[in-house]
Amino acid sequence: MITINENYLKLQASYLFSNIAKRVTAFQQAHPEKDIIRLGIGDVTRALPPACIAAFHKAVDEMGTDSSFRGYGPEQGYGFLREAIAKHDFQARGAEISADEIFISDGAKCDTGNIQELFTQDIKVAIPDPVYPVYLDTNVMAGRTGNFVDGRYQGLVYLDSTKANNFVPALPSEDVDLIYLCFPNNPTGSTITKDELSLWVKYAKEKKALILFDAAYEAFIRDESLPHSIYEIEGAREVAIEFRSFSKSAGFTGTRCAYTVVPKECAAFDSQGNRQFIHPLWNRRHCTKFNGVSYPVQRAAEAIYSEEGQAETKELIASYMRNADLIRQEMATLGYDFVGGENAPYIWIDAKGDSWEFFDMLLNKAGVVCTPGAGFGKCGEGYIRLSAFNSQANVEKAMARIREMGK
Ligand SMILES: *Cc1c(COP(=O)(O)O)cnc(C)c1O
Repeated sequence: MITINENYLKLQASYLFSNIAKRVTAFQQAHPEKDIIRLGIGDVTRALPPACIAAFHKAVDEMGTDSSFRGYGPEQGYGFLREAIAKHDFQARGAEISADEIFISDGAKCDTGNIQELFTQDIKVAIPDPVYPVYLDTNVMAGRTGNFVDGRYQGLVYLDSTKANNFVPALPSEDVDLIYLCFPNNPTGSTITKDELSLWVKYAKEKKALILFDAAYEAFIRDESLPHSIYEIEGAREVAIEFRSFSKSAGFTGTRCAYTVVPKECAAFDSQGNRQFIHPLWNRRHCTKFNGVSYPVQRAAEAIYSEEGQAETKELIASYMRNADLIRQEMATLGYDFVGGENAPYIWIDAKGDSWEFFDMLLNKAGVVCTPGAGFGKCGEGYIRLSAFNSQANVEKAMARIREMGK
């Protein structure tokens, strides 16, 4: 008899986006004349940078000639991309990371989901609330939690991110072994300072814990004092794995390219308490289960680091951040309490009541779609997320409508 992994039965159906879609469809049917503006989506809207497209085309043509054709590449990624990343994203910022510590992949979602395979089932896992749901669900699938009771899985340590702590969770009061952190944060748009991040690195060292640092939004950082990488913090090489993605930084959500950094010193412990380096284990997993990102996509990603690519991605990010500024200005004028949008494409707004009621009000009165915070965890209740991923014209129109709504 084939039996099922019953951990999958514990998973909560994600009603968030289907519920949003249902309400939007109902509204559209009732008001076919009204155009709806979507500020709820965590997906980019603007085209790939021209430098990436040119490199992409060129690489596709190379695949069409026997002499330049490429078959299987190195599973960890081509040297040309790993070296460009190490140099521009780390060494240029004073973070000591070498090319062979970088693993190219098809997404930070897959990587953050897959990494926990390397650890035992009985570890104590700390996960922020509100959160990007992947960290949570993959640990449920692996059997590291009990059932879902009162909005939370039993057996996990939740790191509350609230107004009281400025949306940067405090160190847990009970000992944990694996810690997920995401800064700049999705969904709150909040950031962490070097001093605050140093506390986590120090904690991980003391407790022999490991930090999984998701930096998918580092490209949106404008405040020079904020860390782009956890490896800007002394000692982080021993206790942290970092996840990056070209999805939000260069519009690669549909093209697929990301990477994970596993420093050589980074270790976990075996049952005898001996240090076991993670790099060879992740390398083994990656080579066994993954066959590399396609050559043209890696060439397109490499082009991000060219002079044109740097200028174009900078402008791409700046265009989204102008939208974030418009949203922040309007929310401030209207007297809403919010965080984010300064170093992240998300603005996290206090709905002063129920998330879904606020969602319905924005939809019905302004024709604007947001994301109810309750969909990201218990601490998201009473908040909504607005996204800067849209055209400036749409954001301006949405803000004008929200202004009217208040009159
Ligand atoms: C969008 C996003 C990612 C990127 O995922 P990809 O699989 O690389 O597209 C990673 N983490 C967070 C928190 C995100 O919002």
